[in-house]
Amino acid sequence: MKKEIKPEKPFIYDYTLEQLQDWIKEQGEPAFRAGQIFDWLYVKRVSSFDEMTNLPKPLREKLEAGFGFVTLTEITHFRSKDGTVKFLFGLHDNHAIETVIMRHNYGNSVCVTTQVGCRIGCTFCASTLGGLKRSLTAGEIVAQVVKAQQLLDPENERVSSIVIMGIGEPFENYEATMTFLRNMIHPKGLNIGQRHITVSTSGIVPNIRRFAEEDTQINLAISIHAPNDALRSKLMPVNRRFPFEDVIDACKYYIEKTGRRITFEYALIGGVNDRAEHAEELADVLKDMLCHVNLIPVNYVPERDYVRTPRDDIFEFQRIMQKKNVNCTIRREQGHDIAAACGQLRAKHMEATTG
Ligand code: SF4
Repeated sequence: MKKEIKPEKPFIYDYTLEQLQDWIKEQGEPAFRAGQIFDWLYVKRVSSFDEMTNLPKPLREKLEAGFGFVTLTEITHFRSKDGTVKFLFGLHDNHAIETVIMRHNYGNSVCVTTQVGCRIGCTFCASTLGGLKRSLTAGEIVAQVVKAQQLLDPENERVSSIVIMGIGEPFENYEATMTFLRNMIHPKGLNIGQRHITVSTSGIVPNIRRFAEEDTQINLAISIHAPNDALRSKLMPVNRRFPFEDVIDACKYYIEKTGRRITFEYALIGGVNDRAEHAEELADVLKDMLCHVNLIPVNYVPERDYVRTPRDDIFEFQRIMQKKNVNCTIRREQGHDIAAACGQLRAKHMEATTG
């Protein structure tokens, strides 16, 4: 991994309200100032300390000296016929990340990235092709949602839900992801309903267990993609670190601890994991769990040899799951015409910039 180019100053969005309160106290300022700063950041969504006009000038100068704003420079964006907009943003160190805004009739959802690249190595995913460059800070994840909200502001629309399903494995960047989530759900932050947020992991077992202890209402999704250990290891090398059975055990622990339903994401790959016997086997594993299976017809990744599952086979897979009383839906694809699947835009950009 190349040496990281650190930002000159920590990002103000890296901090929770409580951490800002501590900082304000250290400066000998009255506690309410932290709330005012938070309000400028999350409600008024300014992008400089100068705009925080109800703060005394010396405090604004201290903020300026101590913190920076995340700059997300738009490299390009693509707008799908269905309204999905996919952004490729440049960071201070010239890395590029993807953020997607999905427009639904029930609200606007943002899909955020947590790492530059990914080391998990799922064989159907473009994000992992160049490996992991670095993890994002909490502020860099926050900035993606704030930016999305700024883009929606002129239409008087708001970000109503968040999915952490962009590039990277959030549970390999656990602290930053949790700080990000705290700021999203904070009533003085973006105040997004916890049940409208979903974190998706490839199955980092210790952190599934840790997440179960967090006392939140945030949804958890597991990328399962196979009904057994051997096939999962072929599709997802992470399974050799955290085997199938351990992932299922951690999920059972999560359900028991939180009483919350888990979602299993299952990318259907033609001829690989989409046969009737796979559906039968998966249903047997999951049938007594409080869960839901989301079938995702896999996107074509040029570097891999995967083909899409025929439509009828997708429905057959769903039918088998449902017959065994496993709740199962097929994900409605958005932005297919603009390469909205994770990592495809960034992969194209990397190809173009590295020749
Ligand atoms: S699917 Fe997610 S965890 Fe797997 S390689 Fe892609 S970004 Fe990483």
